[in-house]
Order: sequence, then structure tokens, then C-alpha cells
Amino acid sequence: MIEFTGVQKSYGDLEVLNGIDLSVAEGEVVVLLGPSGSGKSTLLRCINALEDVSGGTIVVNGRDPHSKATNLNELRSGVGFVFQHFNLYPHMTVAQNIMLAPVRVKKVSKDVARRRAMELLERVGMTEKADSLPTQLSGGQQQRVAIARALAMDPAIMLFDEPTSALDPEMIQEVLEVMVDLAGSGMTMVVVTHEMGFARKVADRVVFMDGGRVVESAAPDDFFARPSTERAQEFLRRVS
Ligand code: ADP
Ligand code: MG
Repeated sequence: MIEFTGVQKSYGDLEVLNGIDLSVAEGEVVVLLGPSGSGKSTLLRCINALEDVSGGTIVVNGRDPHSKATNLNELRSGVGFVFQHFNLYPHMTVAQNIMLAPVRVKKVSKDVARRRAMELLERVGMTEKADSLPTQLSGGQQQRVAIARALAMDPAIMLFDEPTSALDPEMIQEVLEVMVDLAGSGMTMVVVTHEMGFARKVADRVVFMDGGRVVESAAPDDFFARPSTERAQEFLRRVS
């Protein structure tokens, strides 16, 4: 589903990705770990062409995000993205937030989009808030809605960039539960998180980045029990 070969990215003189090789198979859940500034967010943003690359190649769901022949709207509608900050539209209800892209981009009728929104809200345990405004929800509830909104485009891939980092501790679990459920449904996922419990339990593979490089890529049991590099060992000492 995702194939990075020698991907490089710099901002001026700053090399942020230094030759990333990474492949993610259909249905695989990859958790990306690494210290702040190691390039995790940049890597995610390259997957749906929010960033240009300076070298190497990327294939996402059979398409090259950086080729002129690729329809970026089409590519992006196949890749759901959930950020640390929920970015729901504040003036729209929960259901309207979820219906927006299917109606505007996919030209789905409002009836069909509403029905689908209600199904997705059920999946994230939020049906009773369909007609509330985002400001009437807790952070954890808003993030669950943001996940439902991303799912409304029926993406083949879901990317998560620290989806629980901005949440109060008591709300983290409810969001992780939705992600666990999604992983169990066979979704292809790339997740940047500091939730090591989630990584251990849900990841098929842990990819550890440092300094714009993939330093380790291993099954979670192996990675957590026997990180093979000093950098990963130090990282784990600090986060656990
Ligand atoms: P991470 O998500 O692992 O914390 P990022 O991918 O956000 O790392 O950032 C990697 C490096 O790239 C950091 O040094 C950051 O300061 C730099 N960086 C990120 N975005 C930009 C940008 N738009 N312009 C310049 N530097 C950037
Ligand atoms: Mg980041």
C-alpha cells in the first residue's frame, strides 16, 4: 500500500528525511516511534503529498503522489489523516462535519451521507452527539468524530499523527479503543504515537526513526524486549 524508496526531504539546508526505505502492506499496522524532530510528521505528510520530496520515490496505493499525472484529490481521498488537533469545523454539527467531504468531493446525496455518518458515529460510540457542535464535546469525543470524518471517505489507508497527545489523560483510552477496533477491521494504518501500550498491543511492526532515518524496524515484541540500537534503547528509557 505504501512504498518509500530512498526518500529524501530537506528544508533549505536542513535534511529532515535522509533516505527513507519503508513499505507497508495492505492491512498492516505500523507504529512510528522516534524522538521529537526525527521526521515522523514529515514522513506522514509525504504519504498524502502534503509535502514535496527532494529525492527518492513514493508509491501510495499504486500512485506516485509527486507525479504530475496523479490526481491529488483522488489520492488524498483514499488516505485518511487524523492530527493531534482535531480541526473539526466549529460552525457545523458533528454529522455535518462527517458529511461534508462525501457530499462535496464524492457528490454523495445528503441522505446517503447522513446515513453513512450515523453508521460511523455508531462505530466510534458517538451517535447521541450527531447534532451537537464540536465545542459541546470533550477533546476525546472530538477526536473520535475526527476519526469518523476521516473514515467517511472510505480510505484505504489511515494516518494518525499523535492523535492522543493533546488529550487529557482520562480521554486517551476512548480514542485508542477506536483505533484498536479500526486496526482489527483490517485497515492499513501508520500511527505516530507515544502510547507504548498501543504500540505493543496493536502494531504489526514498530519503526523507530532518528535523525530522518529508519533506525529499526521490528515486531513490537522484539523491539520492546531487545531494541538493537543504543538510540532506541535510550528512547525507550526516556518514554517508559
Ligand atoms: P517529528 O514529527 O518527528 O517531531 P518533524 O517531521 O515534525 O519531526 O520535523 C523534523 C524536522 O524538520 C524538525 O527539525 C523540524 O524543525 C523540521 N521542520 C518540519 N517542518 C518544517 C518546515 N515547514 N520548515 C522548516 N523545517 C521544518
Ligand atoms: Mg511530529
